[in-house]
Amino acid sequence: MRRTQLFMPTLKENPSEAQIVSHRLMLRAGMIRQSTAGIYSWLPTGYRVLQKIIEIIREEQNATGAQELLMPTIQSADLWRKSKRYDDYGKEMLRITDRHGRDMLYGPTNEELITDIVANELNSFRELPKNLYHIQWKFRDEVRPRFGVMRGREFLMKDNYSFDLNYEGAKHSYNKMFVSYLRTFSRMGLKAIPMAADTGPIGGDLSHEFIVLADTGESEVFCDQELINMKPPGKDIDFTLNLQSIVDDWTQYYAATDEKHNHDNCPIPKDELVTARGIEVGHIFYFGSKYSDSLGAKIQNSDGELVSIEMGSYGIGVSRLVGAIIESSHDDKGIIWPESVAPWIVGLINLNADDMSCNEICESFYELATRNGVDILYDDRVDRAGAKFADMDLIGLPYQIIVGPKGLKEGFVELKDRADSKVERHNVDEMSSWILSKTRN
Ligand code: ATP
Ligand code: MG
Repeated sequence: MRRTQLFMPTLKENPSEAQIVSHRLMLRAGMIRQSTAGIYSWLPTGYRVLQKIIEIIREEQNATGAQELLMPTIQSADLWRKSKRYDDYGKEMLRITDRHGRDMLYGPTNEELITDIVANELNSFRELPKNLYHIQWKFRDEVRPRFGVMRGREFLMKDNYSFDLNYEGAKHSYNKMFVSYLRTFSRMGLKAIPMAADTGPIGGDLSHEFIVLADTGESEVFCDQELINMKPPGKDIDFTLNLQSIVDDWTQYYAATDEKHNHDNCPIPKDELVTARGIEVGHIFYFGSKYSDSLGAKIQNSDGELVSIEMGSYGIGVSRLVGAIIESSHDDKGIIWPESVAPWIVGLINLNADDMSCNEICESFYELATRNGVDILYDDRVDRAGAKFADMDLIGLPYQIIVGPKGLKEGFVELKDRADSKVERHNVDEMSSWILSKTRN
């Protein structure tokens, strides 16, 4: 993409409405614009990041055997009356009436709808287990939408739902998501710690929130020091095997959200306990037959008896993740994207767009990158070098290739690493090979 063609309205000044760094930087980098309170448009740069995050989530979900579908955003109130949540959900639910006077709503989550779908289609235990996910916009009329995409009213969520014959099966489905979430977040450069969360009337210990530690996090969390250094599982995980030992490795250490934590009977000594603030990026939850009972999702077991399907639900805050990644990866100049989610891998800066040799080399790099599927943003504007540097640092692409007339005379161009600001000098051939090494595979 050429910068002269790109719609990326960057801002030099900090917008006054933004209280936290990720919100400020997303506005300044021209990633989002607010449409109305808690509702945002994603401009091209922001949308590219969102798509990269979606793709990682999708790959990791598919690797577990979960299947993608797409449910609508608008749902009928009838299903929610059956589950008794129509009233319970309160003012967070956006209620709509259609022209025939029927009660509708904009889905804040999808347990009812998916249970209804499955109830109508699955009959025998032989058709289980199933795990279905979608990536869809949700609406919750939050009392205090704030911090940009972190607590929006309209936000993108990956939610999935597991269906099993019995508790053992449901627990395996739960463990799969536990392990899969560790991998998913680590691929985005995030350290997300699973923390025991409130299970409410369901009880048991199968509810974890995945929390990224950050000073600007909305919730207070408590965890064992050991968890901070844990390494997430690698990509060779076989999801058909028993995953209990991996889950046990993580859950052996204490970690709890503020709803669950109790100062007086905390099992670990004070000096090993980390008290921090955290951003909830995911939540996994086993709830047994709560929805299958009320919505009639029953199945015949091997003895021919009708039993309620055992369910769990698993959410990831897809749009919130964009903010969470920035909260954990930025400096005073701007964003520092991990390669896996960067809108472009490399930014090419032409220091003098009036100089023939600079243009020629930049064009050849740009053409090489584009032809070989390397995500590149070419700043081809006629502008001051200082402004280009500042802009490129602000939008945070992992690498910058800097081409200037002085360097070219001496036979080199520069490669700058955004994270540590280290600069290497390379001749044009070396730089071309480096570009090729960044080919998307
Ligand atoms: P919170 O406690 O932050 O309100 P929640 O418990 O209501 O979260 P879930 O219903 O479990 O959240 O939703 C799944 C995920 O969706 C959360 O882990 C979070 O990452 C994301 N999420 C929830 N509410 C919002 C919101 N208002 N804006 C952006 N993301 C959200
Ligand atoms: Mg909420």
